[in-house]
Amino acid sequence: MDRRVRVRFAPSPTGPLHIGGVRTALYNYLFAHKHGGDFLIRIEDTDQTRFVPGAEEYIIESLKWLGIEASEGIGFGDGKHAPYRQSERKPMYRDFAMQLIASGHAYYAFDTAEELDAMRDRLKASNVDAKYDAITRGTMKNSLTLSEDEVKRRLDNGDTYVVRFKLPRKEEVKFEDEIRGWVSFNTNQMDDKVLYKSDGMPTYHLANVVDDYLMQISHVIRGEEWLPSAPLHVLLYRAFGWENVMPKFAHLPLLLKPEGNGKLSKRDGDRLGFPVFPLNWIDPNTQELSSGYREAGYLPEAVVNLLAFLGWNPGTQQELFTLEELVQAFSLDRVSKSGAKFDQNKAKWFNQQYVRQLSDEALAPVLFKALEQAELNNSFNEEFVRKVCSLVKEKISFTKEIWEYSKYFFITPKEYDEQVIKKKWTDKTPQLLTDLITDFEQLTIFTQETIETAYQKALAKNEIQGKDFLQLFRVILTGVAGGPPLFEIAALIGKSESITRLKQALTTISK
Ligand code: GLU
Repeated sequence: MDRRVRVRFAPSPTGPLHIGGVRTALYNYLFAHKHGGDFLIRIEDTDQTRFVPGAEEYIIESLKWLGIEASEGIGFGDGKHAPYRQSERKPMYRDFAMQLIASGHAYYAFDTAEELDAMRDRLKASNVDAKYDAITRGTMKNSLTLSEDEVKRRLDNGDTYVVRFKLPRKEEVKFEDEIRGWVSFNTNQMDDKVLYKSDGMPTYHLANVVDDYLMQISHVIRGEEWLPSAPLHVLLYRAFGWENVMPKFAHLPLLLKPEGNGKLSKRDGDRLGFPVFPLNWIDPNTQELSSGYREAGYLPEAVVNLLAFLGWNPGTQQELFTLEELVQAFSLDRVSKSGAKFDQNKAKWFNQQYVRQLSDEALAPVLFKALEQAELNNSFNEEFVRKVCSLVKEKISFTKEIWEYSKYFFITPKEYDEQVIKKKWTDKTPQLLTDLITDFEQLTIFTQETIETAYQKALAKNEIQGKDFLQLFRVILTGVAGGPPLFEIAALIGKSESITRLKQALTTISK
């Protein structure tokens, strides 16, 4: 690769950024860093009718939360190609449109909305694909059919017009996509797209190609939905005479519904209970909430990791990757051609892996917050809380679950898992508990080991098998049937609290 790698993420601020868009940004970031290149953010806001306030800020905040930092562009400090917002670049597109008209690759079209509708109706009636193209353009009001004087008169008069690309007739446009290999389109399936409007705004196609050229983009990595636009873009590069610096194209596979049929949508998330956006978003018009990964309790590292695996794999068994490791491992030739099914259980699994890696110091404040709400924060010290974190973090998928899973370290259980009591409490249990209480009372050091020795001794004395009592013992101490190693729990809550709980069980549980 001799050219400097420069890639861009070019979202339109039309609403919250779908995780498919976040994945596009991530792959661009990984590719840029892998090749020691640049990654820039450009905001494509030429379609003012679709502009949504707050969407741009949302996009930038999402990328920052995930650590997908750009080297230049909106939100990350301007580089030498500023401005990076297309609405602010508006004045520079006109010359490019005029250049294409002068070279015969584009033309003015003056057709009114009614005239366009009439053309479409006419063609539909005769069962022909209704589009403005090499055949129909000859019947419409444009600079190819009107006299030069008439065109000049209309322009001088300030008539509204658009500039359309003059597609070559029946030409095969081929290019090599970095993910799909050779793809080919015939221009007879395409139409003369509008490039520029008399209000001075370029359309997506013109602005996108001109900016990629001016910003010296080497690779266009974007979603599959843009593949049908790519042949037009290739033709634009040719028409401008920029073919030698045309970027390489890489169209990423779609993110599919968990069932695999169709594109992953907000509705799927609502239906199945998982977010499809990075952050919460409230629609400014409808006040409708779209839930986000951040607010749902996902860690940014987990979201990066899970998104990386939706459409790419490293070719090894390794599944956990930091952003830096992803940079090292990433390549476009390991991106799949077929759509990637979203798997919500896998998403949770990734989060769980990262929660486990959190230090006790990092988790402790989450637990302290819950203790504060329960007005228990003054009864326990930092060291105790950290130890609880270290025991419980294996069991949770989200940090916000920690209180639910660790309540019994702080509060003597008031209820017991009924099923276990029913199944495991026997006539021998009261005596065993009495012996355990006596043995525990005699311990001067109360550690995992001394507790276990005393426990084994009491079991032997009562001729009870460990496997028959262990689960009941857990329920007596914690109220619930699952959790971290039991003797560690007992050691942490301490001798007197353990004895209190045994005594409580003895007096309150009866079969
Ligand atoms: N503005 C387009 C979008 O919203 C960018 C497509 C491209 O990357 O060329 O996705």
